[in-house]
Amino acid sequence: MTLPPLPPDLPEVRGKLIPGAELAPYTWFRVGGPADALFLPADEEDLAAFLKALDPAIPVTVLGVGSNLIVRDGGIPGIVIRLMGKYWGEIEALDGITLSARAGALDLAVAKAAAENGITGLEFLSGIPGSLGGATRTNAGCYGAELRDRLVALHGFRRDGSRAAYRGPGKPGALPEAHFSYRHTDLPEDLIVTRLILEGTGTDDPATISAAITALQARRAETQPIKEKTSGSTFANPDPPGTPDQRSAWKLIDAAGCRGLKVGGAQVSPLHCNFLINTGTATAADLEALGELVRARVLETSGVDLRWEVRRMGRAQRV
Ligand SMILES: Cc1cc2nc3c(=O)[nH]c(=O)nc-3n(C[C@H](O)[C@H](O)[C@H](O)COP(=O)(O)OP(=O)(O)OC[C@H]3O[C@@H](n4cnc5c(N)ncnc54)[C@H](O)[C@@H]3O)c2cc1C
Repeated sequence: MTLPPLPPDLPEVRGKLIPGAELAPYTWFRVGGPADALFLPADEEDLAAFLKALDPAIPVTVLGVGSNLIVRDGGIPGIVIRLMGKYWGEIEALDGITLSARAGALDLAVAKAAAENGITGLEFLSGIPGSLGGATRTNAGCYGAELRDRLVALHGFRRDGSRAAYRGPGKPGALPEAHFSYRHTDLPEDLIVTRLILEGTGTDDPATISAAITALQARRAETQPIKEKTSGSTFANPDPPGTPDQRSAWKLIDAAGCRGLKVGGAQVSPLHCNFLINTGTATAADLEALGELVRARVLETSGVDLRWEVRRMGRAQRV
């Protein structure tokens, strides 16, 4: 196999720059081709200096822990950035009920840190197997709360290496306000989120909060195929939360007879039919084709045109 040529004259870095790195191991689905180059920045300064020095024509894509995406079989052109390692996972309790956390921190780690510090209101994050960066981009949520509800401010860098910061919805201050909707944010597409300030809803005994997290996780394990190679909800529910008589994607998929449906090594989860799973041999093309088949059947049976919630990125075929 020939790897794509590395973009010429890449800037020096203190972190790691890995040409042709396979991306499948960095995603929950375990499918997809390589990045032209994978950059694991050492810290914010390393990230900013690299972006500033990088030829503006080279595309940059940031990945979280890959729990909401399909990397296509041809991989991702240009630079793929992943914020991983101890530095990017740092979480610090601030005054009262606020926490500062870097964007590479796992949502579960943030929920646990909040619990240890007696802060309530962040338990829901323990149900989402992503990182805070991904949670921001997708306005991740479950059990009645979303990332936007707890966001005080976020910091990051634009593609040109300049700093950017936003305040959370409805929060006071001079920063521009970040806007979110169901599983979506209007933040600039090229923004790499690096740090968040989050605020809980109150305080309680740490053991009580930890028990709530444990209960929430047990509930998840019963209803979702969390040990499979999956990427969570494939399609957004057609009606946002709170809509009267809200239709859910899984019910429409079930009614269309798609539970357990297969294309190649990809299958609609028999446990939760808004989840696709890689049974072991799936390619990204199998998963995408299965998703499109489900969409077509749902459209035919119910007239609803489901919208992909899972992000699909990259080239269909290797170069
Ligand atoms: C078993 C399972 C259960 C799930 N349950 C839920 C649920 O209940 N609720 C829910 O909302 N989601 C759920 N998900 C989906 C997923 O976990 C969330 O969308 C999560 O927030 C994605 O985070 P990530 O780090 O994996 O991001 P990725 O999947 O890696 O990326 C998602 C998007 O975020 C962008 N991104 C990642 N990091 C950054 C960054 N630092 N700056 C800017 N953009 C960034 C990526 O470019 C991409 O567009 C589930 C997934 C699985 C596998």
